Amino acid sequence: MTKKELKYPRVLIKLSGEALAGDKGFGLDHETVNRLCDEVVSVINTGASVGLVIGGGNIVRGSLLAKMGMDRVAADYMGMLGTVINALAVQDVLEKKGIETRVMTAIRMEELAEPYIRRRAMRHLETGRTVIFAAGTGNPYFSTDTAAVLRAIQIKANLVIKATSVEGVYTADPKKDKNAKLHEEISYRDVMMAELKVMDQTAITLCKENNLPLIVLNVHKSGSIAAAVRGERVGTLVQ
Ligand code: UDP
Repeated sequence: MTKKELKYPRVLIKLSGEALAGDKGFGLDHETVNRLCDEVVSVINTGASVGLVIGGGNIVRGSLLAKMGMDRVAADYMGMLGTVINALAVQDVLEKKGIETRVMTAIRMEELAEPYIRRRAMRHLETGRTVIFAAGTGNPYFSTDTAAVLRAIQIKANLVIKATSVEGVYTADPKKDKNAKLHEEISYRDVMMAELKVMDQTAITLCKENNLPLIVLNVHKSGSIAAAVRGERVGTLVQ
């Protein structure tokens, strides 16, 4: 399939930090990072241009530290630094698989990565490089989900994929309710009204305002992300 025939020629994939921790629940599990990077490589192999936003929940979650008494802003900066650690780990694994990548950070740290400059990011993507956007939005009180949607809009991505450990968006929490059903498709509005915890409200609002489709899928099902990019039915489509 050529890039022109792809339903979504440019995608932004959001990987949560937790996904990188595997069963350990904390830090990085090399085996898991390797497997997730294989999924990213299969997307790149479809010919799509790919941006990645990686969370930091496997290292620091700002809101949790704040609950324990830490200043929220400082805790959030720690969280953003966590996303940089994850981005460097993913960059290393992707490059070993032969993928040309750039890490761009929303907080300057030029010894280790480029600062995020939108025009430069576009240029990297046009030349076929995979861009890993790190340090979230660069602002405390935001999430990497919001960063993912923000970057997706800025790089003119056709789709945001939220790679999770569940199949998609359910009518209820499938872990608590056996009768929970998977939505094949759902509107932004319904996600917002039902307060389904797909993405935070800021991220969903940004998707809605910019007509950016979102697919929520299970990243542990091999081939799912690539299938979504080709336009096959996987997970839940929010639009
Ligand atoms: N964070 C932030 N601003 C951003 C993105 C992230 O302050 O724009 C902080 C926040 O503390 C958050 C942490 O970084 O808890 C890790 O990001 P997130 O929780 O979104 O990661 P994920 O849940 O996807 O692993």
